[in-house]
Amino acid sequence: MNSANCHVAIVGTGPAGFYTAEALADNPAVRIDMIDRLPTPYGLIRGGVAPDHQSIKAVARRYEKTALRKNVRFLGNLTVGCDVGIEELLALYDAVVLATGAPEDRPLGIPGADLPGVVGSAAFVGWYNSHPDFADLDIDLDTASVAVIGNGNVALDVARILAKTPDEMAQSDIAPYAVERIARAPIRDIHIFGRRGPLQAHFTPKELGEMGELERAVPLVDPQQLPDEEEEATLEPARRKIISILRDFSRNRPDDKPLHVHFRFFAQPVEIMGSERVCCMRLEHTRLEGERAVGTGRFFEVPCGLVIPCIGYRTSPIPGVPYDERAGRFVNEEGLIGERLYCVGWARRGPTGTIGTNRPDGAAIAARICEEVTPSGREGGAGLDRLIAARGLEVVRFSDWQRIDAAECAAATPPHPRLKFAHITDMLEAAREKRLAD
Ligand SMILES: Cc1cc2nc3c(=O)[nH]c(=O)nc-3n(C[C@H](O)[C@H](O)[C@H](O)COP(=O)(O)OP(=O)(O)OC[C@H]3O[C@@H](n4cnc5c(N)ncnc54)[C@H](O)[C@@H]3O)c2cc1C
Repeated sequence: MNSANCHVAIVGTGPAGFYTAEALADNPAVRIDMIDRLPTPYGLIRGGVAPDHQSIKAVARRYEKTALRKNVRFLGNLTVGCDVGIEELLALYDAVVLATGAPEDRPLGIPGADLPGVVGSAAFVGWYNSHPDFADLDIDLDTASVAVIGNGNVALDVARILAKTPDEMAQSDIAPYAVERIARAPIRDIHIFGRRGPLQAHFTPKELGEMGELERAVPLVDPQQLPDEEEEATLEPARRKIISILRDFSRNRPDDKPLHVHFRFFAQPVEIMGSERVCCMRLEHTRLEGERAVGTGRFFEVPCGLVIPCIGYRTSPIPGVPYDERAGRFVNEEGLIGERLYCVGWARRGPTGTIGTNRPDGAAIAARICEEVTPSGREGGAGLDRLIAARGLEVVRFSDWQRIDAAECAAATPPHPRLKFAHITDMLEAAREKRLAD
């Protein structure tokens, strides 16, 4: 890269966007605009990570430092592909990085999956996290039994939030309407179904262990579904830990607590039944062929009034950006989509890994940009500002977000850390009101 200013637009301000900005910002010749469709930064840290896992959300403090760097700007409430086109960004900036994540649920693809009462985890998690896309969902929890499909940490998050009491959520920033609905719900059984076995589950020990510490819920496992102790002894330590936790759960008794969380392995959903809404799910027992689950031809049914598939996510397409329908993400080679257009994080590699996985990803894309992009007098942010003004768009700057943040923290009843705004209009109003007051 030569010494002229290099203008980079990063679209999406989740972990991947921030780690990319962090790696680029050390070079003072780089000017970075971070754009988000929401008035709030941090992506899934705010809208996905469980509200009772505040220590994980604290990573936002690191991102804040990057946002406050002299050569970094935040522009929220601006949707790329709608308010501003990708071609327009490419005309203004020397490089554009798509860090838009994977916000859509992967379809379940079985009969009945569209019935009322089937709520994908993106929607369900967004609902309890006050995400403006999902805050107004009318989720009917008036059921004794819930089916959660999937064997990853998102399935554990969903089951745990449904199982916790209001007291257990007191230190969280969960949406108050969600706590209230969950407290009133007559749920007695939460089933967590996995197509494969406990050796293939993607749970992590800490999150799995938390299921054993719930006030009103007891986790239950059929010991027959666990590997024998001889096999357990040969496992690598992390996997052995998972099996040992599940074995502890298998010793629990259902009458220990009123709410039962059933871990049910080797079971694949084949149909969701109901007329007006879900009433039952039909599943097939499976067995493993290598690492693949195959049906055994033996079926069973589980009554349930709510089904929450936690089976993965897809990136939302953006007009003008090549998209791989099968993989559900942008077509890219090691993060390169086309000339000066890159992607990073979940938009690049799909919905896998932890927050930290996005860090090397962001650093690698930043290094590529420094190597491949030659600044050529493009206007960068000044041009975007003009376009925003001409279109009469209300964009949220980082100082506006700080006002929204302060208003949310001030509105919380301790020990809740914050009371989130769930609607964009309220966020914008808080930014405006406070702006006038300052
Ligand atoms: C329910 C859930 C819980 C999780 N819990 C944990 C956990 O406890 N620990 C952990 O390590 N990992 C966790 N993860 C994984 C972690 O959240 C991801 O690895 C990470 O957020 C992916 O980062 P990203 O930047 O690619 O996407 P995201 O975090 O999704 O960020 C994408 C951003 O792009 C913005 N955007 C999208 N489209 C546009 C557009 N067209 N224009 C402008 N902006 C746009 C979005 O508003 C969003 O801010 C969890 C994931 C989920 C789904």
